Amino acid sequence: MQGLMMDMPLLISSILQHAARHHGATEIVSRRVEGDIHRYTYADCHRRAKKLASAFTKAGVAVGDRVATLAWNGYRHVELYYGVGGMGAVVHTINPRLHPEQIAWIVNHAGDVHLAFDLSFLPIVEAIAAKCPNVKSWIALCDADRQPASDKLPSLVNYEDFLATGADDYRWPELDERTAVGLCYTSGTTGNPKGALYSHRSSVLHAYGAALPDAMGASARDVILPVVPMFHVNAWGLPFTCALVGAKMVLPGAALDGKSLYELFEGEGVTYSAGVPTVWLGLLQYVQANKLKFSTFQRTVIGGSACPPAMIRTFNDDYGVEVIHAWGMTELSPLGTLSKLQNKHMGMSEAEQQKVLEKQGHVIFGIDLKIVDDSGKELAWDGKTYGNLLARGPWVMKEYFRGEGGDPLMYDADGRGWFPTGDVATIDADGYMQITDRSKDVIKSGGEWISSIDLENLAMAHPAVANAAVIGIVHPKWDERPLLVVVKKPGAELTREEMLAFYEGRIAKWWTPDDVQFVDSLPLGATGKILKTRLREQFADYSLP
Ligand code: ADP
Repeated sequence: MQGLMMDMPLLISSILQHAARHHGATEIVSRRVEGDIHRYTYADCHRRAKKLASAFTKAGVAVGDRVATLAWNGYRHVELYYGVGGMGAVVHTINPRLHPEQIAWIVNHAGDVHLAFDLSFLPIVEAIAAKCPNVKSWIALCDADRQPASDKLPSLVNYEDFLATGADDYRWPELDERTAVGLCYTSGTTGNPKGALYSHRSSVLHAYGAALPDAMGASARDVILPVVPMFHVNAWGLPFTCALVGAKMVLPGAALDGKSLYELFEGEGVTYSAGVPTVWLGLLQYVQANKLKFSTFQRTVIGGSACPPAMIRTFNDDYGVEVIHAWGMTELSPLGTLSKLQNKHMGMSEAEQQKVLEKQGHVIFGIDLKIVDDSGKELAWDGKTYGNLLARGPWVMKEYFRGEGGDPLMYDADGRGWFPTGDVATIDADGYMQITDRSKDVIKSGGEWISSIDLENLAMAHPAVANAAVIGIVHPKWDERPLLVVVKKPGAELTREEMLAFYEGRIAKWWTPDDVQFVDSLPLGATGKILKTRLREQFADYSLP
């Protein structure tokens, strides 16, 4: 027997419609690339997103067509998310930090028919235009009077003029909820990038899941500033989650330095934020150097790479900001796990609680995890045994766009498909997952594994260390041994011997790095994570002492 409930499809247009109707006066505040602050409301955003959908429809964009963006976090980007997605087309968010050659490749692979870009990315667009014949128009995200002149872009329009061609009475179509809504390519550190294609259903369910109190947790009382870019897995879904709960949204544009962020946090009363560890290094250094405090900032989600425990402590002890450590990936929309305490942890000492919070955390309902050995056999949840981490759920990808790479899933005895994350992890008896490493970063020494993340986390706890990375160096006897690469804090003194002595008593002796190299900076990838592949290239000719 079937249930007798309404078949209302889960559509992202209904999220914005809800925000406009029930939180219509709530603000979306953006720092524009021009430097000024723009503010309007969910009601304004909804009106303009519908007009944009109408403009694209008039321009011939059909359900399933891809429209690309090269843009920072800002209100026009939000309108593109909802306008393009809501009409049944696909928003393809491109990471502008990729090489222009790679961007052109992605645009062509995706088959993008229009591309909207922030003025800061004009040079990229000019460099790729001739290589992207399918793009019918290049839409500059600016006012009409700021439209640049460019002889390299024959079909250049400005967003406001384009928007004005739309009708005011546009109505969102009632699409099948499995219709594609967003396309995001992985960074392609190995081989060409591959696209994860999200559906309305997966995006709405992810937004619901993210809003749960033990997940990201968001409410109509929050003022949320996603530092994580909207070109990095949809800013972890925050443009959907914020509208779903009616939170005020603050979008930082291109200014992600400590000073600009701090001004926006204080000026707009930000309570909640999210980003990768490297962006917080900049903000923390700025507030520390200027002896500042946060007056409204309460909590932040940190993920994308392992959050050093020292960062969790600094936020908590010095600034009263709760850090929610999270793990996810492009193929998971991205949220998989987040670390929050449960009732059973309440009687524990603070140090024990801290240990739980340092883990990547517990799944949200909707995600299922397991760890397996190389033969696919499931491993114990004892917090010690580590294995390949697999995931499944309604917002986990089942196949890459255009079938790239074949069927990525691993099938269990019941025929259920699991997505292999490429991460190595432990899961404890309470279901808290901890990442040991990416499988390609793990250091194999004498047949045993050394976790580069553990060694990096410890180095980061040293007061003289600004940033640290550990890579495996080929060793004649042990296969590989760890090399620690350190960026010192400005003005700090630290020797190799002092750094290595810091590990004594904190880890098994054989885990201690064989050497320390000091560098001015670490190579960062397109999503702000340390690029271990580049670092390994940098140290290709290096030999251990
Ligand atoms: P890419 O880094 O390739 O651009 P993603 O942003 O999808 O793509 O990265 C996902 C990967 O980032 C995960 O598989 C995992 O290795 C790593 N990661 C994400 N969050 C964490 C975390 N909290 N701790 C450790 N690793 C993490």
